[in-house]
Order: sequence, then structure tokens, then C-alpha cells
Amino acid sequence: MCQQTQVATVIPYWERWLEKLPTVHHLAKADVQDVLGLWAGLGYYQRARNLHRGAQWIVEHGFPKSYSEWLKVPGVGMYTAGAIASICLGEAVPAVDGNVHRVYARLMGSNAELPKLANLARGWANGVVFKEAPGEWNQALMELGARVCRPREASCSTCPIESQCKGKENPLQYPVPKVKKESVELIRYAALCRRMGSYAIRQTASSEWAGGMWEFPTREEPWSGEVIGEIRHVITHHRIKLRVQDVRDQEFEDWKTAEEIARLPLSAAQRRVYRQFVVMPTGSV
Ligand code: SF4
Repeated sequence: MCQQTQVATVIPYWERWLEKLPTVHHLAKADVQDVLGLWAGLGYYQRARNLHRGAQWIVEHGFPKSYSEWLKVPGVGMYTAGAIASICLGEAVPAVDGNVHRVYARLMGSNAELPKLANLARGWANGVVFKEAPGEWNQALMELGARVCRPREASCSTCPIESQCKGKENPLQYPVPKVKKESVELIRYAALCRRMGSYAIRQTASSEWAGGMWEFPTREEPWSGEVIGEIRHVITHHRIKLRVQDVRDQEFEDWKTAEEIARLPLSAAQRRVYRQFVVMPTGSV
């Protein structure tokens, strides 16, 4: 998916989020289920939980006033802390994202692989950050990577650091491509079990991939019951076949009506199960 498409995809999520949670105080006070509900469909659910925990930390301790304080906020890493501290607080610290990794690798002709490349790029960026305007400097460096020294095309003739660049003769050789993880196929089984107008449903444990989200009971082993359909989806390098089974004779703890399930945070795959197997073709439930 290209960057523009990614941005277009998240805009409605961003607007809904700001409407419901316009300030850090709203986010801190919100129920984590509502936060996950606003995030549902985007994946990477740990990020939503971290944002929630981060907001609670800020409401309790106040807004951090430096790079090192920002690193104490749950879910905030070196890139985010560096971007906030340099752009908002004027602190002379680097903000090193993937664009800066690429500029560094080409500028130095470095064959280092991640995570070593990230450490080298951070050390270099820390040494060259322009102390009078660190926020603008960091943004300029990231923009250089995003617009000039692009992943598949480098416009070296317009690049302001062309004269010092060791990789300009063959820029696409840098950085060394990541070794792709081999794609793995997984099969999971979701139980569609209906009883007196309600469906079996469960909340996943926080240690699971979509921790805190809800799902039709899903496991690695088949349930007893006819397979009535299959949903295919991809998470990182996992190609997952989610087989939906019509399950009758099974005890489950949590039951909810279709209307109640519609309001729960479901992952994109589980939302598809809901739409295809619970919502009637007419749109009624
Ligand atoms: S000269 Fe080319 S390869 Fe080197 S940093 Fe500039 S755009 Fe990238």
C-alpha cells in the first residue's frame, strides 16, 4: 500500500478519534474498550493500548519537559521522544526514522543492517543536529529521505549533500535490504454458536495478539461442527485462514446479541465474520 493510500485510510479513524477523544484528559478517562473500538480495523492494537496508558501517565505526572522524560511515557520510544522534544521543546536531540536510516546508509555507503544501522544513524544524527533549530533540522532530514533520497529513486542531482555522499554512484544498493521473513500459513477455527438469539463471544487476554479485543471463540484446533465459510487475512508474514464453524454442542461463558456485538471492538477479520455470518444479507441482524 502506498503512503498516500495509507494516509487516506486512516483519516476517517483520526476524525472519529478526535471527535470522541479531543484531549489527553478525554483519552486518559476513556474505557480501554472504547479506545480499542475507535482503533478497531487498524491492527497493531498494542499501539492503542499504549496511547491510552501514555495519556494516563501524562495526566498523572504532567506533560514531560525533556527527551529523557518523554522516554518514561509508556509506549514512547526514541524516535517519538526525539521528534516531540526537538519540534515542540526545541531540544537538540535527533529524531531518526526509516528515512534517516536510508539517508545515513547512502551518505556513508554503509552496509550495516538493522538494528545496527539504526544505532549508527542515531549516533551520526546526534552529532550533526543543528542546535539553533533542531525541530526544523530533524524534519528537513526526514523530508530529504521522503522526497529526495527516496527508497526506489534518489534525485542526487538536486540533493544538498550530494558532494559528500559516498553512495551516490549506486544509491539503491543502500541500505542493505531486509531479509524477508518466510511467509507462514496458519489455520484457525472460529465458533459461530447461537443460543436464544445470542452468540458466543469472548474477550481476548491482553497477552494475545489482539489483546482486549473481542472475537467469536477462536482456536487452533477445529470445533465440532460444520465449516460454513472461510475468511483469509494477513498479519505481518502470516497468511491466516480463519475457518468459521457452525458450533452447536459447546459450552461458552459469554453470550451477546448481534446488536451488542456490533458495538464491541472486533479485529478486521472478526468484523468480517460478524458481517458475513451474523448480519443477514438484507442488512438486518
Ligand atoms: S546524493 Fe543521492 S544517494 Fe546521496 S543522500 Fe543525496 S539523494 Fe541520497
